Amino acid sequence: MSQESLRSQSKASWERKQEKPVQTVCKTVRQYSSAPVSPEDMQKLLDIAEDYRRVKNYVYTRYGGIGSLSKLYPGYTVQNEMTACGLREQLGLPSVYFYLAVFEALGDIRRQWIRTKSKLLRLVNRNEGFTEEEKHYLRFLLKVSNAFEAAVNQKPVELAAKLKAQYRTLADRTDTDRMHRYLCRQVRKYHVKPHTDTADTFSLSERAYRYADHGIYISIKEKRKRVFVPLTDNNQYGCQIRVKLYPQENRMEFIVPVHVAVRSHGDYQNQTGVAMGFFTMLTTDTGRRYGEELGEYQLAYSDWLREQSSVYNRNRSSNPGRKKYRDKKRRLEERLHSYINQELNRFLREERPRTVYIIKFPKPRAGGADKRINHSIVQWQRGYIKKRLTQKCREQSVELVEVLGKDISRTCSVCGALGVKKEGEFNCSACGYTDEEKTNTARNVKKRGQGDGVLYGQRRKDPHSGGRTHKPPVPNQNGAEQNRS
Ligand SMILES: [Zn+2]
Repeated sequence: MSQESLRSQSKASWERKQEKPVQTVCKTVRQYSSAPVSPEDMQKLLDIAEDYRRVKNYVYTRYGGIGSLSKLYPGYTVQNEMTACGLREQLGLPSVYFYLAVFEALGDIRRQWIRTKSKLLRLVNRNEGFTEEEKHYLRFLLKVSNAFEAAVNQKPVELAAKLKAQYRTLADRTDTDRMHRYLCRQVRKYHVKPHTDTADTFSLSERAYRYADHGIYISIKEKRKRVFVPLTDNNQYGCQIRVKLYPQENRMEFIVPVHVAVRSHGDYQNQTGVAMGFFTMLTTDTGRRYGEELGEYQLAYSDWLREQSSVYNRNRSSNPGRKKYRDKKRRLEERLHSYINQELNRFLREERPRTVYIIKFPKPRAGGADKRINHSIVQWQRGYIKKRLTQKCREQSVELVEVLGKDISRTCSVCGALGVKKEGEFNCSACGYTDEEKTNTARNVKKRGQGDGVLYGQRRKDPHSGGRTHKPPVPNQNGAEQNRS
């Protein structure tokens, strides 16, 4: 760990001891092997990854269904049963890896159930064959885990006193058997047990590795043996680390979740609307630009990819080395990403925003306007930029608010009439306003963010607001609450 991060971490823990909670945010850092990993060492690590995969699939199969719902929280039953089943001994996998794989798989199963339940919730809400009471009852089952578990396993619903009263009122007004049968049918139809074919990754608990000698020592299946991997940096972390193996490239990546204290800037007071673009990454409502070379970077990348795929198709039979291709692809991608990050940092530093307003992305459409622009890459980079901006805003306690984007670039930011876009210029014939197209858009973004059209801000932790339009009170520029209903 670097001196600086050591200092900030010990400071953070000192502050925690003083019972002043420090707000932290999770950030992913990566470490890389600095020299080629020998085939023998790589094989030892691949063996762990393969066992890791087997353990996870075993857990998925055994505990991924409705019969195991009651065992998912907090998971000790599963842990005990997995100890008793003998799989660990059979594989010869050290327990530092075995139990991590078990708990990771359990986490995946839980997430899978959350997905299934939200799918079912959407179906219930859309189903016109149900009365309001029936929908209400089904929503209750989908929300209360114990009730759900009982219902899909045809067991009597038993709940704590407070919930029980609520349950009874709802149950008395519905044909519960019919509802439970419906739920079972939908679960059978939509719930899938997780499964993984990936055998190039596993996690390291703190006990499975040690940093030293400009690298990392990793426990392997042989007792008291370690694989040493030299690293490109000397940072040291003390948490669970994810290992990713690239056997064909003889290299490894270490993915480390780090909690960093949220920084807040008293002087960040601006309200900034931004428009995103392919050629210029961000244009603000005052016409300032960040990432003006983005287009060139993206075109260089997509041109190269296109060229490569045609070369590849021509030489498919002779199968030219893919290693060179992957190396180059990675370098171009890294170059593009570091440019994006650098410009996003500059954006926050120079704009000093308290709130950033941005358009909520529409669903990806098929086919791009410009054939030269590989559409999937554009979509992906836009997603990357958004993801990075979201993370950076979180780290600097800047609020990020998404607004609806319908007609936003065609609307005049002065009078609201629909205008004409031409060659990067926006013209409004109604009021005569004319401006750079993206600036006009960014002005609309800010207006919508402060007025109507707000989707949700990062700070509003309302789980029900996802994807739905609602209009929470938003402080206006004077900081006062505005009522817009
Ligand atoms: Zn106008």
